[in-house]
This record gives sequence, C-alpha cells and structure tokens, in this order.
Amino acid sequence: MAVPKRKTSKSVRNMRRSHHALSATMVSECPNCGEIKRPHHVCESCGYYNQKSVLTKKTEEE
Ligand SMILES: [Zn+2]
Repeated sequence: MAVPKRKTSKSVRNMRRSHHALSATMVSECPNCGEIKRPHHVCESCGYYNQKSVLTKKTEEE
C-alpha cells in the first residue's frame, strides 16, 4: 500500500479545505404557479417545465 512520505502540514491541509465551502442554493419563481423552484428543474408544485406540463400527477390520471 502506498504511504505518504510526510505528514500534510496545517498550511497545505487548510489551503486544500479553502475550496470546501458550500454556496447558497439558487432559487427562481415558477412562471406557471409562482412557487419557488430551482432553475433548470421541473416545478415540484405544478409539474411544469418550459411552459408545458411534463409530469403526470396521480390525481390527473384517467
Ligand atoms: Zn409551478
């Protein structure tokens, strides 16, 4: 098994972790129902994407 030759210094460890921060999730408004939705995702409230209904809700099945 490969083993590191040296202990990772606090400096190198902290520099690596400088890229680990999380960013806030983007949100936008659904043009169909006005609910908050994620961009480029189907609206979970009304099932619309790009002005079309793309999800078949169980209550709307024939
Ligand atoms: Zn919607």
